[in-house]
Amino acid sequence: MQNAEISVLCRPLDIPFSRLIPPLSSPSWAAARAEGRVDAVAHERQLHADTGAAYPWANVLLLLAQCYDPFPAGCGISPYYIASNTFYHKTNALLDALQERDIRAERAKIPFRAVFLEAGIGRVGRNALLSIEPYGTRVALQVLALALEDPIFDPIPARDAWGCGSCTVCQDACPTGAIDESGWHGERCLRAHYYDDPPPPWVLAHADTLLGCEHCQNVCPRNAHLRAVEPSAETRAALDPARILSGDIAPALTLVGKNQKRHLIRSAVVLTKRI
Ligand code: SF4
Ligand code: SF4
Repeated sequence: MQNAEISVLCRPLDIPFSRLIPPLSSPSWAAARAEGRVDAVAHERQLHADTGAAYPWANVLLLLAQCYDPFPAGCGISPYYIASNTFYHKTNALLDALQERDIRAERAKIPFRAVFLEAGIGRVGRNALLSIEPYGTRVALQVLALALEDPIFDPIPARDAWGCGSCTVCQDACPTGAIDESGWHGERCLRAHYYDDPPPPWVLAHADTLLGCEHCQNVCPRNAHLRAVEPSAETRAALDPARILSGDIAPALTLVGKNQKRHLIRSAVVLTKRI
C-alpha cells in the first residue's frame, strides 16, 4: 500500500493530507520531556519519543492532517479542540478501514507536531505554531502506526517555503508581548499558561477565549484563505463557561473530547475569574 492507495481511503473521510514515512524518533520531544517542558496532558498521556521502540511491529507512520475554519475573532471560543476531536473520530473510521483490509494499524501515542517537523513537514512561524502549506496554522494532526507489506515512502519534501520574512503581524497582535524580534517566549504566552493552577494575574487580565488564545492565528497571513464560521447555538450553549463550572460538562466534552476535561474546566475558571 502506498500514499496513493492511502489517499483513496482518506478521500471519502474528507482527510486531505496523508503521508507515509518510516518510524522515527523525536530528539526534541525526548529533551522536552526530560526537562519537564511538556504540558500536563501530554505528560499524563506519556507520549513516546521513539516510535520504533514503542511500536516495534510497525514499519510505517501514517501522518494525517486536516485544516479547520476559525470562529469569528472575538467570539470567545477556540475552534481547535472541536476540530481536533472531529478529526480524531474520522481517523477512527480510517483505522477501521485499514483493519478491514487486514492491515495492523494503531493510533500512535507520539507528539504529532514534533513528528511532523522531524519528517520535514510544515514549519514553525514566529508565533511558534506549526503551519503546513497550503493549509496554514489551523491544522489538526493525527499519526497512525501501520504494518504494511513493502511500503514505498515519498521522498522527504523540501521544507515549506513559508518563512515569516519581515512579517511582524502576530507580534503586534499579541496581547501579552509574547512575540518579539527574537521570536516566541512561552513564559509570556497565554497559550502556554492558560491551564496553570492558579492562573497568573497576567493570564486573568488578558484571557478572552475558551480553550486557548486566538490572536496570533487570527492575523497570520498563512491563514488568510480561511473564512470564519459562526459556532452554532448548541456549541455556544455547550461551551458556556458558567455551564461548564456548574458541572453540566457532558455536552462540552462531547464536542472537544473527554481528554480535554481539565483544559475545559481550567479555561472556564480563567474566563469567569472564579479562582
Ligand atoms: S497564543 Fe496569544 S499570547 Fe500566545 S503568542 Fe499567540 S497571541 Fe500571544
Ligand atoms: S503573523 Fe507573520 S510573523 Fe507571525 S507567524 Fe504568521 S507569517 Fe509569521
